[in-house]
Amino acid sequence: MPISRVTEESITVVCSNCAVARDVQRADLVLGTKRDPNMICAPPCACGSVEIFVRTWDTCPSQFTGSRFDVHRRVVNSLAQCIKAAGRSHASHAPTHVGETTAPPDLFSGDLDAAVVPLPAELAARVA
Ligand SMILES: [Zn+2]
Repeated sequence: MPISRVTEESITVVCSNCAVARDVQRADLVLGTKRDPNMICAPPCACGSVEIFVRTWDTCPSQFTGSRFDVHRRVVNSLAQCIKAAGRSHASHAPTHVGETTAPPDLFSGDLDAAVVPLPAELAARVA
């Protein structure tokens, strides 16, 4: 599930199954899948797991403001905006994406090209 870091060129994805961290090129990411306009699928991990990130249109409950959860969802939403702006929408949803007049309300306020997201403690303890 988690993205732990974003650079101008890549994202670091930590596999929820095997806890291996790997870099995925941002240019390889597409917004949307055949059935869902909000999903971003990372290429499969060597263990076979596929990490999926979901763009969200609701706002984070205030009790989680500033939490790892809040930062991660903002990073995913901002990453989705960048992917869309680069024209990498899944063909099934490209017209929908082009027609969007609003953005997800929870966007990352810092420099997305240098974003760091803390891992959940239980996963951080397993990362090699
Ligand atoms: Zn894995």
